[in-house]
Amino acid sequence: MAIDILNPYAMAIAQFDEAADRLGLSQAMRAILRKPKRELIVNFPVRMDNGDVEMFTGYRVQHNINRGPAKGGIRFSPEVSLDEVRALAMWMTWKCAVVGIPFGGAKGGVICDPSKLSRSELERLTRRYATEISILIGPNSDIPAPDMNTNPQIMGWMMDTFSMHQGYSVPAVITGKPLAIGGSEGRLEATARGVQYVTREALLDLGMDPEECSVIVQGFGNVGSISARLLHELGCKVVGLSDISGGVYNSQGIDVHNALHYSKEHGKLKGLPNTEHVSNAELLVLPCDILIPAALENQLTEKNAAQVKAHLIIEAANGPTTPEADHILNDRGVTIVPDILANAGGVTVSYFEWVQDLQRFFWAENEINSRLESIMTRSYRAVHNKALQQETNLRMGAYLLAVTRVAEATEIRGVYP
Ligand code: NAD
Repeated sequence: MAIDILNPYAMAIAQFDEAADRLGLSQAMRAILRKPKRELIVNFPVRMDNGDVEMFTGYRVQHNINRGPAKGGIRFSPEVSLDEVRALAMWMTWKCAVVGIPFGGAKGGVICDPSKLSRSELERLTRRYATEISILIGPNSDIPAPDMNTNPQIMGWMMDTFSMHQGYSVPAVITGKPLAIGGSEGRLEATARGVQYVTREALLDLGMDPEECSVIVQGFGNVGSISARLLHELGCKVVGLSDISGGVYNSQGIDVHNALHYSKEHGKLKGLPNTEHVSNAELLVLPCDILIPAALENQLTEKNAAQVKAHLIIEAANGPTTPEADHILNDRGVTIVPDILANAGGVTVSYFEWVQDLQRFFWAENEINSRLESIMTRSYRAVHNKALQQETNLRMGAYLLAVTRVAEATEIRGVYP
């Protein structure tokens, strides 16, 4: 059956089916793992600053919790849909399994454009959404975190709202919080640090010297901007960057620190001195050695995959490559480090944050980073070895490892009652 290539849930199911076929999963196991366990849709009112009341729709989906409590970020965007949240929840299940942390997968989102909301409207929307999904979330059941257009302050409001309902502070209900209320050192940079570690390992395998590599990063938010800085620190030359305003390119290299200052000051990259303006579509096919999609889904498709110049793609975003593009890029010999491995640094340090909150005992930043490095490097090696052993690519290697772990837990727990 043809799949709707731009529907992320259809894409997530197609990826799972391929792994299930290779693993020879039973019909029962396939049926269980193909479906999210719980899906909550909430429609709720928010009073706007002008006194009007507007209705918003939000979601929280838990895909599988057989390896531990549900874990996954909250996205605020006009493009949020139930199928997008389902796909992201399923990817979280595999991601936690691939790096071996004891969580299941979940995701949440609200259909809204935060750039059009005042700070107080954003706070009221966040607190009401947190209340609506409080029937699912909790430190032992489901622990949200930041994702697109959400940040530590929003996590702080969610933690406070949940705590107000309980009557006492519950820091472990959410991760990605500010340090002052039980956040973890290193969480803000964690996803990008994971991207840096897997890039270093992949370059080693490909026999490429970071000092001779050029990089293009799509997306200049939490993950993209810090990945650009950390890859620059690894010795790479950053030649292209982008955000929603479009891309900037300079084949001689872009000063990432200047770009960070410029973007902070102007709210966008467009107009960055000493760069040429390009569209987001053009940026993806410009000459570079390493391409890092760090914005959103469906960026590399059958339309542009044949034109991509990079030898190595690190999927910092979730679902940036459609299955068709994946085939084209694989056939062309492009190495892809898949999302469920490449961006797992975020959930790994979220796990550290949760553990610290539960123990009321906090670790130093160097301890966090060195534990993260060891988990990311070990996971990359395990995926690489699995791919070699099974004569497949890194994405399928990661899926084979992850699905095996989740299926094992599901099998042992059995079908209740
Ligand atoms: P963010 O909101 O901080 O940044 C998103 C960036 O993408 C912004 O620079 C925005 O301008 C840009 N963008 C939006 N639409 C775009 C478009 N059409 N073309 C080009 N750029 C566009 O979000 P983030 O937290 O950095 O998340 C980025 C991706 O990384 C998402 O796919 C997210 O699911 C994934 N991710 C995030 C984390 C995390 O810890 N934040 C962890 C794992 C995966």
